Amino acid sequence: MSRIAFRHIALIGLGLEASSIALAARRAGFDGRITGTARTAATRDTALRLGLCDAVFDTAAETVAGADLVILCVPVGAMAEVAAAMAPGLAPQVVVSDVGSVKARVIADVAPHLPPNTHFIPSHPIAGTERSGPEAGFAELFDDRWCLFTPLSDTDPTQLTKLRDFWHALGAKTDTMDAEHHDLVLAVTSHAPHLIAYTMVGVADDLSRVTESEVVNYSAAGFRDFTRIAASDPTMWRDVFLTNKAATLEILGRFTEELFALQRAIRQGDGVHLHDYFTRTRAIRQGIIEAGQDTDAPNFGRTPLPPAEPDT
Ligand code: NAP
Repeated sequence: MSRIAFRHIALIGLGLEASSIALAARRAGFDGRITGTARTAATRDTALRLGLCDAVFDTAAETVAGADLVILCVPVGAMAEVAAAMAPGLAPQVVVSDVGSVKARVIADVAPHLPPNTHFIPSHPIAGTERSGPEAGFAELFDDRWCLFTPLSDTDPTQLTKLRDFWHALGAKTDTMDAEHHDLVLAVTSHAPHLIAYTMVGVADDLSRVTESEVVNYSAAGFRDFTRIAASDPTMWRDVFLTNKAATLEILGRFTEELFALQRAIRQGDGVHLHDYFTRTRAIRQGIIEAGQDTDAPNFGRTPLPPAEPDT
């Protein structure tokens, strides 16, 4: 018996997040209806072929008709457009939610389009990979990951409980916070680190004294992890930075100051500063492992790569 109280889930956007929601809901025993739409016919066809949805539609308004839960799973910059497009099809008392990585801007973009007899509960599952599209999803994506809600001042607690139970059924842990605070927290834990990864991979690409094949062949663990992050979807991340400007710039300002301090320590041979700094950061990693948010297996538990071809 499914713990999911909704009977018809409508997914707007059918990429990594939406397909994982559909698969995780089915894994949880959800036997109600799932409808979906995406921008292109190719994605809509793929979603049907994979059996992610019972029906796909060309328009958002048709997709949400009769749904009691609508989840917007499009890039943050497309939220306003899809909210306006679906609004005429919304049923009374429907719960409208989203999975956008930025919250204050999504609230500002979506809320004005929703009829008064609907329940808007913004959310953000902190779970993803560098892949995108309907084939990238998997049922386990949300297991033991956090889904954060940023309720509005007039959010109905009964509807929030229903949505929370939905995410628990998908495998997630849940918490609530203020939208501005969410955006600052995510700037620290996700948005600024992504920008730094993009920059580091860009620097390696620009450095003419190190050849491309040297970067590819000799990439050590640190750089390899940067390349994985820097392979993330360009549209999604463009939108994240354009819509979480203030918080990201604040964190990058602090990052730059710390980087200058480390640069000075290296130049001046200040090993004490470097050692103290790295001791503090190692403790943060330990905290993440103790919180069950990553593995402590060496090299993130990856299986070793096959032996490299010997030099000739
Ligand atoms: P994705 O795999 O790239 O999928 C995005 C989907 O949105 C695609 O189906 C795309 O359709 C559709 N779409 C784009 N613009 C549209 C429009 N104007 N109208 C209708 N559909 C449109 O992206 P995702 O990774 O699932 O991300 C979706 C949301 O989740 C984003 O807001 C992101 O910030 C958030 N999020 C992502 C992650 C992550 O790590 N990936 C984690 C947490 C939250 P087409 O395929 O037809 O273009």
